[in-house]
Amino acid sequence: MTPVTTFKDKRVALFGLGGSGLSTARALMAGGAHVHAWDDGEAGRLKAVAQGVPLEDLSQADWSQFAAFILTPGVPLTHPTPHWTVPLAKAAGVEIIGDVELFCRERAAHTGGSPFVAITGTNGKSTTTALIAHILREAGRDVQLGGNIGVPILDLEPPSDERIHVIECSSFQIDLAPSLNPTIGLLINLTPDHIDRHGSMENYAAVKERLVAGAEVALVGVDDIYTHAIGARLLAAARPDQRVVPVSGARALDWGFYVEDGSVYFREKGHPPEEAELIGTLKGARALRGAHNAQNAAFAAAATWECGLEDDEIAQGLLSYPGLPHRMEEVGRIERALFVNDSKATNAAAAEKALASFDDIYWIIGGKSKEGGIEPLRDYFPRIRKAYLIGAASDEFARTLEGALPFERCETLDVATTRAALDALAGEAQEPVVLLSPACASYDQFPNFEVRGDAFRGIVHGLPAILAARRGAHT
Ligand code: ADP
Repeated sequence: MTPVTTFKDKRVALFGLGGSGLSTARALMAGGAHVHAWDDGEAGRLKAVAQGVPLEDLSQADWSQFAAFILTPGVPLTHPTPHWTVPLAKAAGVEIIGDVELFCRERAAHTGGSPFVAITGTNGKSTTTALIAHILREAGRDVQLGGNIGVPILDLEPPSDERIHVIECSSFQIDLAPSLNPTIGLLINLTPDHIDRHGSMENYAAVKERLVAGAEVALVGVDDIYTHAIGARLLAAARPDQRVVPVSGARALDWGFYVEDGSVYFREKGHPPEEAELIGTLKGARALRGAHNAQNAAFAAAATWECGLEDDEIAQGLLSYPGLPHRMEEVGRIERALFVNDSKATNAAAAEKALASFDDIYWIIGGKSKEGGIEPLRDYFPRIRKAYLIGAASDEFARTLEGALPFERCETLDVATTRAALDALAGEAQEPVVLLSPACASYDQFPNFEVRGDAFRGIVHGLPAILAARRGAHT
């Protein structure tokens, strides 16, 4: 844990008693602050009581006593409408901040600017964050990984000059961290998302920009118009102590970090193309397939290079990266067939990434469909041998697939997986891929995408026995 000492002996209001809110409350208390915590839900309040976190109904509190108000990032600060606590804090002139801000203040108070890598973007944050931490760890560095992924930032070990914090930041966390100043800041990409929570694309982009604007080394994407514009603006206004470096997963750059033909390069400003430094290759990196992962890998290589790693350390880390669960995760191989769990793909845009990464796909889709369904994926249908429909979206998806692709209604994941495996093994493809990339939310049949992906993994592990029994029955 990182005790928050900067509010020692002060009173701090805190709203939101989920995982990160409770972690923040404990860290504040460990540092000597007096916490006044609240949540609209009884479950959170009960958990707080069980952990010894003092409660106070903030709707009745005297706000003038508070030195700060800590808001959990899941609770609206501005849009669609500010949470009821926000106007109370503002009326009393109490600053509203979050856990990342508390970490930044600890880092400033107790270290000479300890190594701090902060990652944001619309997509690929978790993959890039986990990949950076993996490469650094494999190279023997002391790494703390967390933030918006896994462990809340204040549950990590405290910052120190030898320890590298690798932190995924959501836009909500950035919004609540006015002094965010990482050693290395990454802005991977920007596409419209969470606009309901930020009011407009401009607002959303402006929040994300703050993470790189405050960084000593700003690694900024150039593969979409929004990050491209931010990079140009930062370059024009760079402080003397700031390095702003472009990163692309899609094309060779005049300078900066980029992926070309499956390898990652760094080219110095003003140097000719033949002097570009080869950092490592993605050929053979099984957990980094696809153009989207080329972008993530370019960023991870850039960040670890800026941390001072040698090229061969980065190259080895890229190759040995095991991947994150539920994101194009290889969960098994039976004879020629590969089984891939992409349960995190809860919409068409995410499923597109997996469809673009494989050929000869036996595609398991369905669940609770999103606006537009699988219509945007039509261009990828030639890669698909057959589709297996599960869950509530079956009728809708059958209409889209009719006449375009062979498909089968399977209702449940276990039936779909078994049918797909049998077809894959009976077909002629060299490496058929049974892919769960459902392009749907899971809520009709599973509590969340993790449970759905875990179920798929379990079914795949049980398949050899089922297939052997079926074959036995046929001989
Ligand atoms: P995040 O943490 O930003 O949600 P993840 O790394 O968990 O991102 O990836 C979630 C999904 O987003 C992946 O399964 C993939 O479909 C897609 N994705 C990952 N990286 C990128 C990227 N660089 N660009 C676009 N989409 C991506």
